[in-house]
Amino acid sequence: MAANKTLLILPGDGIGPEVMVQVRRIVDWFDRRRAVGFDILEQPVGGAAYDAHGTPLTDEALSEAMDADAVLLGAVGGPQYDNAPRDKRPEAGLLRLRKEMDLFANLRPALVFDALIDASTLKREVVEGLDILILRELTAGVYFGEPRGVETLADGTRRAIDTQSYTEAEIQRVAAVGFELARKRSNRVHSVEKANVMETGVFWREVVTDLHESRFGDVELQHMYADNCAMQLVRQPRQFDVIVTDNLFGDILSDCAAMLTGSLGMLPSASLGAEDETGRRRAMYEPVHGSAPDIAGKDMANPLATILSFAMMLRYSFGLGDDADLVERAVQNVLAAGGRTQDIVGPGMEAVSTTGMGDAVLAELDRIAA
Ligand code: NAD
Repeated sequence: MAANKTLLILPGDGIGPEVMVQVRRIVDWFDRRRAVGFDILEQPVGGAAYDAHGTPLTDEALSEAMDADAVLLGAVGGPQYDNAPRDKRPEAGLLRLRKEMDLFANLRPALVFDALIDASTLKREVVEGLDILILRELTAGVYFGEPRGVETLADGTRRAIDTQSYTEAEIQRVAAVGFELARKRSNRVHSVEKANVMETGVFWREVVTDLHESRFGDVELQHMYADNCAMQLVRQPRQFDVIVTDNLFGDILSDCAAMLTGSLGMLPSASLGAEDETGRRRAMYEPVHGSAPDIAGKDMANPLATILSFAMMLRYSFGLGDDADLVERAVQNVLAAGGRTQDIVGPGMEAVSTTGMGDAVLAELDRIAA
């Protein structure tokens, strides 16, 4: 039997801990029933770590995250931390974790489950069967470029500056992940920028084209301007397979694509780092939603986004596509049988609790793996 995987669990704040309880049950199920086993570590992060240790990310948690085979995060934040100093706020812990782990590739799938088609604001025929993956560069670009800030000009008025900057290596490494992911999907990549008006856009296009020619000629590549991509995402989203784009455009386009699927409680994500010499990548998996303080502690939260994040971990960190499929199929079947938490409940349906949804997924796993 293969060695156990080390998994660091960071439940965080608000609904984070309660959805994570359900994921722990699924991890235990895999431990018992499948070939993969896990050694689990757990640490507070965000507000929970601030309350316990006066910092949103302890050195111990960071060091465990750097060494773990994968990290699974719930969510961080809450109104009680709004007045904490900036570097002590829950998000500061998350940002430091992403930065130290150098998680440059953010994967945001937009998958429409048949049973939830009506939750999308778009027409059924536009989103039916939708399965796209937005790959956003996460550690460079205009959110990090220097110089930045507000300055006072000679005439006494002020101006603000942000700098969009990308090195060749930063573009190459995220584009390579995009091509590799596409090879395991429908083998198509759209590279998205604004080459019509931005120097970084022209450069991005050039670097992606060269990389494609030298290493990924078997993958179909198309270039698209970001504004057109936004339009195409709501016009005809199924034309896409993998979209690779920079930090700013990825931020916007991934939220747009996410909403095609209708519900925040259903959306998983993954953030990957560079491969080391053994081929291992640092990686963190987390739902797209936040800590939902309005429903925290009420056993009402939808745990599926975090359960699907665990499925992404099986697929992308451990190469266990069949096991990931099993989790996704169990979720799909539970939804098809009418299992709904309150955020996705339809007219005439009864909502189940967070625990009830966990029970249903486990029962379905037992059934389909029997
Ligand atoms: P949110 O995602 O927490 O909640 C938005 C709305 O969606 C709320 O009405 C909430 O009840 C609902 N919702 C979210 N997840 C749900 C789920 N799994 N099941 C059912 N309903 C769900 O966003 P927000 O209200 O803007 O932020 C709340 C806190 O979360 C803030 O402190 C914010 O900073 C933080 N936040 C954290 C992350 C993260 O940890 N990655 C991401 C976004 C927001």
